[in-house]
Amino acid sequence: MLAGSAVAGSLVPLPTVAAAPLRRGGRARMTLRYRPYTLELRHVFTIATSSRTTTPVVLTEIEYDGVTGYGEASMPPYLGESHASVLDFLSRVDLSKYENPFELETILRDIDAISTGNTAAKAAVDIALHDLLGRLMRQPWYNIWGFDARKTPHTSFTIGIDTQDVVRQKTREAAEYKVLKVKLGRDTDQMIIETIRSVTNTPITADVNQGWKDRAVALDMLHWLKEKGVVMVEQPLPKEQVDDLAWLTERSPLPIIGDEGVQRLADIPKAKGVYHGINVKLMKCTGMREAHRMIVLARSLGMKVMLGCMTETSCAISAASHLSPMVDWADLDGALLISNDVFDGTRVVNGKVTLSDRPGIGVQKLKV
Ligand code: MG
Repeated sequence: MLAGSAVAGSLVPLPTVAAAPLRRGGRARMTLRYRPYTLELRHVFTIATSSRTTTPVVLTEIEYDGVTGYGEASMPPYLGESHASVLDFLSRVDLSKYENPFELETILRDIDAISTGNTAAKAAVDIALHDLLGRLMRQPWYNIWGFDARKTPHTSFTIGIDTQDVVRQKTREAAEYKVLKVKLGRDTDQMIIETIRSVTNTPITADVNQGWKDRAVALDMLHWLKEKGVVMVEQPLPKEQVDDLAWLTERSPLPIIGDEGVQRLADIPKAKGVYHGINVKLMKCTGMREAHRMIVLARSLGMKVMLGCMTETSCAISAASHLSPMVDWADLDGALLISNDVFDGTRVVNGKVTLSDRPGIGVQKLKV
């Protein structure tokens, strides 16, 4: 008999008896539960367009036949979703009508059809359903998808826009990370980069959050950033400036990644030629199922892939992390930025995304 192992990446032993039996036509039905929660951020978080100290989330659970899967919606204000909009959306989801929780195609298509937006609310259902199915199969999703859990990337760690002293202090605190991410797009861009470089030579990824407006100025900045050891730039110009973005991507010395400009699967063919790659986030794209498809499609088009997040608990971060062996860059520091996480799951160990070998998305609810 195979012995169990605590090391992610090893084979999780298959059960000697069939996994939780499906009761076709029987009594078991899925039940969806949810509650609002507010994440407290460790530092004031400032990007090109806003500052904040909390992030609203909604925690979800789907129970089936005595097994519970966990999910989460995270709603940073710029996404346009709130506690109220997510609770309202979830009140319209009826999972009790499905006999078989494995019918992901039908269930998630129906949920997507409830409204045109609400991508975070949809992700909260998608993640809990994936977690439930992994638990019913007694396998983690990296195994179900066929990925090598040891091939996870290092995650970047975000240094927000701040004063020179604070940037220097945050950079020193981030010594364990192998990639730093900086938020640019203000008149302090060069100061922030120079300040980080006064502390460390760690590679930097830069996120402009649509903060630059002129393509020629942006191109000069890209050349300067490359000299400073920046390795990739997210959303340098507003997403509406498609022609300018394509012009910049053609000439850029650094990979240009679309974030605000690429939300869902259907956006990817249009993004080819406009960006070198895409930033996939579960909260933008309705969850794990579509995120997986986005990565496969982007790869087939020869595009680069980044896996990003919002400020989230270890629940949504763990869900995303099962896709991380497939990506070029991971930005999965969301749970590290909060002080009131409610899950243990994927961890960051010496800067590397480190998956748990628990089934499903690999999370365990903390007692808080
Ligand atoms: Mg971004």
